[in-house]
Amino acid sequence: MPWRWEDPVTRLPGVGPERAALLGRMGLRILGDLLLHRPRRYEDRRQKRAIGELRVQEAAVVRGRVVAKGVKQFRRRSRSVFELILEDGSGRLHARWWNQPFLDDQFEVGMDVVVYGKVVELKPRTMDHPETEILEDGMDEVRIHVDRIVPVYPLTEGIGQRWLRSKIWGVVDALAASVAEPRDWVSVEGFCTRAEAMRWLHFPDEAGQEERARRRLAFDEFVELQNEIQSRRRRLYAHAPGWVCRGDNRLIRPLLKRLGFPLTEAQTRVLREIRGDMASGRPMRRLLQGDVGCGKTVVAAMTALMVIESGHEVALMAPTEVLAHQHWLRLKEWFGPLGVRVDLVTGAAKRRDEAGAGAGPGLVVGTHALIASGFASENLGLVIIDEQHKFGVEQREALVRKGHYPHLLVMTATPIPRTMALTLYGDLDLSVIDQSPAGRGRVRTFIRGSEAMPKVWEFVRQRLGAGRQAYVVCARVDGDEAGEVRAVTREWAVLREALRPHEVGLLHGRMPAEAKEQVVSAFRAGTLGVLLATLVIEVGVDVPNATVMVIENAERFGLAQLHQLRGRIGRGGHEGYCILVTRKSTEESARRMRVVAECSDGFEIAEADLLMRGAGDLVGAAQSGRPPLRFGDLLQDRGLLELARDRVREWGSEGPGSVK
Ligand code: ADP
Ligand code: MG
Repeated sequence: MPWRWEDPVTRLPGVGPERAALLGRMGLRILGDLLLHRPRRYEDRRQKRAIGELRVQEAAVVRGRVVAKGVKQFRRRSRSVFELILEDGSGRLHARWWNQPFLDDQFEVGMDVVVYGKVVELKPRTMDHPETEILEDGMDEVRIHVDRIVPVYPLTEGIGQRWLRSKIWGVVDALAASVAEPRDWVSVEGFCTRAEAMRWLHFPDEAGQEERARRRLAFDEFVELQNEIQSRRRRLYAHAPGWVCRGDNRLIRPLLKRLGFPLTEAQTRVLREIRGDMASGRPMRRLLQGDVGCGKTVVAAMTALMVIESGHEVALMAPTEVLAHQHWLRLKEWFGPLGVRVDLVTGAAKRRDEAGAGAGPGLVVGTHALIASGFASENLGLVIIDEQHKFGVEQREALVRKGHYPHLLVMTATPIPRTMALTLYGDLDLSVIDQSPAGRGRVRTFIRGSEAMPKVWEFVRQRLGAGRQAYVVCARVDGDEAGEVRAVTREWAVLREALRPHEVGLLHGRMPAEAKEQVVSAFRAGTLGVLLATLVIEVGVDVPNATVMVIENAERFGLAQLHQLRGRIGRGGHEGYCILVTRKSTEESARRMRVVAECSDGFEIAEADLLMRGAGDLVGAAQSGRPPLRFGDLLQDRGLLELARDRVREWGSEGPGSVK
């Protein structure tokens, strides 16, 4: 029987259960996996360098014959160096490996060897720890391993480079040509065929083909991803008529009057988009993105009122008790006079709003506890999720399934570049508030080392004296052994001393809910001048009079987190001051701190963060369970991703066809 894509790797000659287990560790279980095993790099062995021409610090491939070898033990017995000397007619190269004496058994004088590495010195010409491959006689040598562009694969212990390359060669030979082409992408999009891609990914005939192969496979990957996302959405629409929630403004109008500020243009535009969705008869699925402080809560409130006006209940879910409580207080204040009930459900508290206990539909605000509490009402018309990045996709879906396909509004301040949004939240429509309310004070950001702390506290005291309030943020609740990381519980005593006579309140996630509420209320009321807290204040705490923030061990926070934290200040008309205290500064962390200090735009910070860290983390966190992209790169392949999305949209429920 001819080999097929889904045959197990044990079909290969020389692969028994043991080897199969080793391959399995790299995720290689069927022959198709081998075809998709992406080389880590390529070596152009057609253009090997003569040893005599090697230059210092330049990576190069060299081929030569072993003329001498040996292990040298150093006096302190634990150290040794193994040295291999190669000769190619133009000169000699010394290859050295420290503390790997066993290599001595693998090489023999007279062997033909290829090495890849960087020359570290010229007299004698030396490479340290190069990659090597022993060439053998025979036909395959010429076809697979030398005189061509050769793939170099990621390996696992027990699997050799040459061995794997030969196996993959065999699979490419047997299978690549018959790989199916699901659609005519070749003439339409100018891609190479999938069959070509399978061959060129491993054994390009000329430079550049490997990149054409990668692009083709990346596109297929994006198509698959988009198809998953879009068909989930189609299924939902097919079975789920949404409530029509046009509203009639009878509640919205009086609230608009009482707010005390006009909505920004961006807020108004987003509300129009939302109203369009909710009037359409299909369930809304919308992601509302906007930098910290841009005013998403007002939009949420207006959206809730549209639904309540239309006769349905609303649920709002927040990631922390502090934030849920704060939303509850604020919304009660806004909705109470309208006769709309606002209840609170968190793990610790369940409160009915007695004052606004009207008979009509109302709003429930809560944390995760909402999902567990079984609050679901058949009449639930809208679910709002605040700060989406704190919730996984499953939690979001669990809440939406509670009711009768309610509308969904997801809000986030985590600025996700557009491509990322397409992938991570591709099943949601995107609205962006790209404008802050007028009259905001500027926030200035400073970077300070620990030696500057006396001056920093002096400055904070001075701001407090002027009637302002301050946050101090620490990375941890308890101290670590070495005391390198500031912790709120220890810092509390220090701060009360340093900032006397101003009162300092303590807030962290391990406190009982009631104690948390008390502290936040006292800070909001102004009886506490300073709030010493952990990341729990990252989202939600909204006190316009607080204009100073000191972040201890700022180097331990992510850029987006720092930006989010900083969003707590500069909410009123006063100038804000954010002081990033770094206690252990590396070049890398210094660069990251500068990005935050110099940049006040969340989107820019997020892009910079992505460029520095790579997209992996973000995707990993949000895709939950999906295998990572193998060929596609969310930053580099933006165009491909958009193309894939558009094509999948055009095909609709027909789908892209199988790509196996
Ligand atoms: P976020 O988008 O971070 O959730 P909030 O909704 O908490 O921001 O709003 C931040 C602050 O700005 C709040 O005090 C809110 O009342 C105020 N605010 C919201 N919209 C406007 C506006 N259009 N004009 C002036 N202030 C506004
Ligand atoms: Mg908010």
